[in-house]
Amino acid sequence: MKSLISIEKYHYDILKKDILLLKKEYEKIKIDMIGKSNLKKEILLLKIGTGNKKIMINAAHHANEWITSLVIMLFLEKLLYHEKENILYKNYNIQQICNHMTIYIIPMVNPDGVNFCLKNMKNEKYLKKWKKYENELDRWKANIKGVDLNLNYPAGWDIAVENKKKMGVNHAGPRDYPGKRPLSEIETIHMVNFTNQLQPDMTISLHSQGEEIYGPNKEDDIESYKLGKELEKISGYQYTSPAYTSSFAGYKDWFIQEFKRPSYTIEMGKGEEGKSLSEKQAIDILQQMEKIFLKIFEKLC
Ligand SMILES: [Zn+2]
Repeated sequence: MKSLISIEKYHYDILKKDILLLKKEYEKIKIDMIGKSNLKKEILLLKIGTGNKKIMINAAHHANEWITSLVIMLFLEKLLYHEKENILYKNYNIQQICNHMTIYIIPMVNPDGVNFCLKNMKNEKYLKKWKKYENELDRWKANIKGVDLNLNYPAGWDIAVENKKKMGVNHAGPRDYPGKRPLSEIETIHMVNFTNQLQPDMTISLHSQGEEIYGPNKEDDIESYKLGKELEKISGYQYTSPAYTSSFAGYKDWFIQEFKRPSYTIEMGKGEEGKSLSEKQAIDILQQMEKIFLKIFEKLC
């Protein structure tokens, strides 16, 4: 199989180009959006499958974690290829999986942030506003307004604010600022509205880095805990419950609070704390991630 996906620093324009390439080759992919970002970029939604079970996978809440967008696109391409050719993907029958479930992928929750981080943004207002950070864009996690989207959900938001204040963060900037109020950001509003409308059976949030899977502990949800431990065994990614200081106001925290359904956060790859991984790591990361995704699909079917 020759891949159509660009192994590059994966900004929004490359994502869009790759989606169109996939669409030409694979008619089974459906393209939609959940709404638009601050700078009017479409927050894209990709769909494959027709089954009743619904899983939603989101990537790049955090700008400098754009590798997650690249990896999920590589994985989607593999699904589409094996579905079309009707050949087993690591012993999994993808046509069968697609009959049982529908997979919803939001490959880039934070397109403005990713574009800014990768110097693919020309908006004068924000280039001026954030000029003092121009030499450390590689550490930019927030959206274009300087809010950390994965701290902006209404799930223990006050506690997140307190925690981050103690760390010295109390204003908009590259990372860790939870915003003026929960759902102050258009991107998180779209995520909440879409999730409420879809009512997924499970959600997976992709982040980097650390080679860890965050999910419920034994006491809260024994079934999800068991699956988490199984994922650990097949992938080598450590299954754990998140540290106290980072278990509030994230998408996963909100989803579990509202729906009481399984949800995992996966910290993919390994690299330098706070910085982007290299696009050259994507193929290696995919090799762990495909085992994780396929096992989850098997459980959900
Ligand atoms: Zn992250």
